[in-house]
Amino acid sequence: MAFFDELKQKVMSGSKQVADKAKEVADTTKLKGQIATEKGKIKDAYSKLGELYYEAHKDETPETEGIAEQLAAITTSLEAIDLYEKEIEKIKEAAAELAAAREAQKQEAAAQAQEAENVVADAVDVVKDLAEAAEDKVEDAANAIKEKVEDVADIVEDKAEDTVEKMKVQKEKFCSHCGKKVSADASFCSSCGNPIA
Ligand SMILES: [Zn+2]
Repeated sequence: MAFFDELKQKVMSGSKQVADKAKEVADTTKLKGQIATEKGKIKDAYSKLGELYYEAHKDETPETEGIAEQLAAITTSLEAIDLYEKEIEKIKEAAAELAAAREAQKQEAAAQAQEAENVVADAVDVVKDLAEAAEDKVEDAANAIKEKVEDVADIVEDKAEDTVEKMKVQKEKFCSHCGKKVSADASFCSSCGNPIA
């Protein structure tokens, strides 16, 4: 039994050690985080300090070792930034000009398309007018032909009537006794009453 008690004691003390170690790690991590935060604040302060110092002394050449070089490095970088910004402006302007040119081209193309559409529409109108005129002409010609045919028919009819009349006239006879005109189918003269030869 003593053996088990001893073991239990060992296990318990072991877990306590593990727990202590975990707490130690957690505390350390937290403290390291706080240090990092402070370092960040220092960095910001150095940056602000540097900016203020640069603005106050950029045109000077301080004697302290290293400072003149840092001031020159900042000036060089600021000039480079200025150049890059100008390049960006140029690129933007060129892009805007290109976009404007493309828009103008697009509008011109649209205007040309509209013009072409108008030309086609006009041509269609002309063709329609021509077709209508042709239709009218055909109708006029048809009417003229119809009238002519009717005229010819009238003439033929008149001629036929005339011919019939003439035939009738040719059939007429004269009395051989008194010389008066008698109808072609008469057997006796209607004037003197003599038989027709
Ligand atoms: Zn007679």
